Amino acid sequence: MAASPAPVRNWAGNLTYSSPRIHHPDGLDELSALVQDSPRIRALGSGHSFNGVADSGHDLVRLDALPREIEVDPAASTVTVSAGTRYAELAAELHRQGFALGNLASLPHISVAGSCATGTHGSGDGQQCLSAAVRGIELIGPDGRPEWLRRGDDAFPGAVVALGALGIVTRLTLEVEPDFQVSQRVRLDVPLDGVADRFDDVFGAAYSVSLFTDWNSDTGRVWLKHREGRPQGTWGGGRPATGPEHPVPGAPTDPATEQLGVAGPWFERLPHFRSEFQPSAGEELQSEFYLPRAAAPEAFAALRRIGGLIAPVLHISEVRTVRADDLWLSPAYGRDSVAFHFTWHRNPEAVAPVLAAVEERLAPLDARPHWGKLSGLPPEEVVASYPRAGDFAALLERFDPAGKFRNPFVDALFPRG
Ligand SMILES: Cc1cc2nc3c(=O)[nH]c(=O)nc-3n(C[C@H](O)[C@H](O)[C@H](O)COP(=O)(O)OP(=O)(O)OC[C@H]3O[C@@H](n4cnc5c(N)ncnc54)[C@H](O)[C@@H]3O)c2cc1C
Repeated sequence: MAASPAPVRNWAGNLTYSSPRIHHPDGLDELSALVQDSPRIRALGSGHSFNGVADSGHDLVRLDALPREIEVDPAASTVTVSAGTRYAELAAELHRQGFALGNLASLPHISVAGSCATGTHGSGDGQQCLSAAVRGIELIGPDGRPEWLRRGDDAFPGAVVALGALGIVTRLTLEVEPDFQVSQRVRLDVPLDGVADRFDDVFGAAYSVSLFTDWNSDTGRVWLKHREGRPQGTWGGGRPATGPEHPVPGAPTDPATEQLGVAGPWFERLPHFRSEFQPSAGEELQSEFYLPRAAAPEAFAALRRIGGLIAPVLHISEVRTVRADDLWLSPAYGRDSVAFHFTWHRNPEAVAPVLAAVEERLAPLDARPHWGKLSGLPPEEVVASYPRAGDFAALLERFDPAGKFRNPFVDALFPRG
C-alpha cells in the first residue's frame, strides 16, 4: 500500500496534518485491515477544510487509490459513488448519462464523502445541503467490517453529517434527477438596504442566488443561477453585468463559470468556479455561519456596522440560503437558513480579532459555524445549538466505543463520558 510521507498540508496551506502517515489503500480489503489494525485512524477527503476536523494524530487514510465507482440506477433515481470521488468527476459522468444532482457547492473539486461529512452546501431557497441528497452510506467500523446505513434506519440521520467520527465511508448512494440546464446572470451595484428589506424577493429570484459584498460598501453583487424551465422571480435590483465577473472584484475571470445568461449544463453553472482552474481567491482562509433565515436583516445590520473592521482582511463575503433538513449535525438542521461566508486574507493573526468580532455579533443570532471552516466559538456553545447533539454523542459511543475515529476536534465537541 502506498503512503504519503508527512507532512501533508490542507488545500489552503494553513494546516499541516499531524498524522505521521497518510495511507492510500488500493482495495477495500486492504482498507478494512488497515482500520482493524490501527488504534486511531480517520479519513481525509480532498483536504479542503480549513480546520482540524479531518486530522488524526495517528493514521490518516485517503481513498484516492481505491477503484472508482459511479453506478447510476435509473429506476431508483440514484447513483452509488465511491467516497473519494470529487464532484467534478461525478457530475461529468452523470451528465454523460443524462442525469444531474440538484445542488453543488461553489467549487467542484471537493470529495463527495468529505463534503457530506461537513454539511457542505450551495445556495437556493429550495436546495438543502449536499448531504441531504444521501440515501445510503457504506461505513467501515472500528472492527474493519463494512456496513450499509440507509435512509429510514434509526442511525441514518446522525451518520451522514458525522465529521468522519463514525468510521470510514467507502461508498454513498445519492439522489439524482434528469439532466437540466442553468443560465447565470450577475447584477452589480445592488444596494444592501434593498437586499435586507426584500430578502425573500432577492433570494427567491432564481434557483440559486448568492450575494457578494465586503460589508463596508453600501452595495453588493448578486449572482442569479436560473434553472431553465422553472419560473423566475421578478426581482432585478442594481444593474446587469455586461461582461464576466469573478466573485472577488478585480480578479481574473477565467476561473469563473459561464455567465451573461448563456444556458449550459447544470454542473458548469451551479458552482462559481470551473473544475479545470484553481478556485476562489487562492491565498485565503474561510469562515462561515448558518443563521435562521429570519435573522438575515439583523445580521446584515450587525455586519455592516463593523464593515470597516472586516473589509481590510477580507477578499469577499458571500450570503447564501439553505433549506432545512433533518440530519442531526447539519448546520441547517431543523431550520431554513441563511449562511454568511467570509473569504479572508491568509493572515491568521490579522483575521483572528476580526473573526472574533464577527462571531460576537452573529452568536446571539444562534449562529452555527461551518464544520470545515475557521471559528473560535466555544465548542459547548456550538453543540448547544443542535437539538440532536445528545443523540449524536450516543451514536459515537455505539459505533466507536474505543474512540478509534475520534480526534481533538470531535473530542472538544463531544467529550468522552
Ligand atoms: C475554495 C473552497 C471553496 C469552498 N466552497 C464551499 C461551499 O461552496 N460550500 C460549503 O459548504 N463549503 C465550501 N468549502 C468547504 C468544503 O466544502 C468543506 O471543507 C468540505 O468538507 C471539503 O471536502 P473535503 O473532501 O476536502 O473534506 P476534508 O477537508 O478532507 O475532510 C472533511 C471531513 O470529512 C471527513 N471525511 C472525508 N472523507 C471521508 C470518508 N471517506 N469517510 C469518513 N469521513 C470522511 C474528514 O475526516 C473530515 O472530518 C470550500 C472550501 C474551499 C477550500
